[in-house]
Amino acid sequence: MSDRWIEETFHADWRVSLRASKVLHEVKTEHQHLVIFDNPTWGKVLMLDGVTQLTTKDEHVYHEMMAHVPLMALDKPRNVLVVGGGDGGVMREVLKHSCVERAVLVEIDREVIDTALEYYPEIPGGAFDDPRSQVIITDGLKYMAETDQRFDCIIVDSSEPIGPSAVLHTKEFFTDCRRALLKGGILVTQNGLAQLFPDHLAGTTRVFASLFKRAAPYICHQPCYFGGLFALNLATDDKMLLSNDAKTLAKRARKRGVDGLKYWTPSVHIGSFALPAWLESVVEAAIEAGRAGDDRGYAAPPAPKPAKPKTGPAVAKTSAKARKAAPAKAKK
Ligand code: SAM
Repeated sequence: MSDRWIEETFHADWRVSLRASKVLHEVKTEHQHLVIFDNPTWGKVLMLDGVTQLTTKDEHVYHEMMAHVPLMALDKPRNVLVVGGGDGGVMREVLKHSCVERAVLVEIDREVIDTALEYYPEIPGGAFDDPRSQVIITDGLKYMAETDQRFDCIIVDSSEPIGPSAVLHTKEFFTDCRRALLKGGILVTQNGLAQLFPDHLAGTTRVFASLFKRAAPYICHQPCYFGGLFALNLATDDKMLLSNDAKTLAKRARKRGVDGLKYWTPSVHIGSFALPAWLESVVEAAIEAGRAGDDRGYAAPPAPKPAKPKTGPAVAKTSAKARKAAPAKAKK
C-alpha cells in the first residue's frame, strides 16, 4: 500500500487529492505531465498536468454523454471527428453506432494513446483496431485549420483550457470546426464545472451563438470532476435536431446496435438539456450576447504550476517504452 497522495493542482483555491495505492506510470511527455495510478475507490486514474481526466469507475458517464447525445440526435451520422480524447473512451462509444463509417481521432500527445492501451485497454476497447478508425497525431487547432475533410459530427474531448488544450476552447478553433461540419452537423465540446466556473460555459456559449443557429448546453453528473454539475455544449444550424422524442431516440439506438450503456438513455438524453434556473440565466445571457456580436470565448486564469510529487519515484523526462510502442494505425 502506497501512502502517496496525488493532488489536483488546477484550482487556485482548493485541492482534491487521491491516494495512489500504486503509481502505474508517470512521465513528462513532450506536451504535459501524465500520471496513471490505482486508487481503491476510483480504479485506475489518469491525471494530466494536475487535472483528473478520467477514472475507470465513472468514465462511462462523460464518454457516453459526449458521444451519444450528438450522434443520436442525428438521423444517420457517417463521418465523425474526435479532437483530443486520446484515452479512446469517446471513440469506443462513437464506434458503437453501426451507421458510423469513419471515426477520426486527432490527438496531440501520442503517449496518452499508448499508455491507455498499456494500462487501461478496457477504455478504448477495440476502438483503435476498428477498421473504421483513424488516429492522427497533431495539434487539433492546426488540423482544423488545414483539413478539407467534412464531418457529420465533431466531438471536442479536450482537457481543461490550460496548456496544450487552451487552443481547443477558442473562437478561432470553433470557427474552423464549423467550416468542417457537413450541412446540419453537430459540434460538441466540454465546458467544465458549470456551477463553480460559469464563465467557461458562458464563453463557449457566446461563441457558439455567434457562429451557429442553435447553442444548447447540457449537463451530466461526473463524480470524479469534483464540484457539481458537469457541462457539455452542443452547437448546430439544424434546430430540429434537439426535438427528437424518446421513441425516436430509442429506435435509433436499437437500429444502430447501441446497447449495454450505463448512463445514456433516451430520457437522460432529453433531460440533460433541462438546466437549473441559475444556469438557464447564464446560458440565456450568453446566447443573447453572442447573437449581438459579443463572441468573446473563455480564457482560463493562469493555473498554479503542477505540484512536484512529494514522494514516490522520480518523474522520467520521457518514456522510451511508450515512444517505441506506436499505437495501432497511428499516423503523423
Ligand atoms: N475527459 C477529459 C476531461 O474533460 O477532463 C478529457 C480527456 S482527454 C484525455 C483530453 C485529451 O486532449 C488529452 O489526451 C490531451 O493530450 C488532448 N489534447 C490537449 N490539447 C490538445 C490539442 N491542442 N490537440 C489535440 N489534442 C489535445
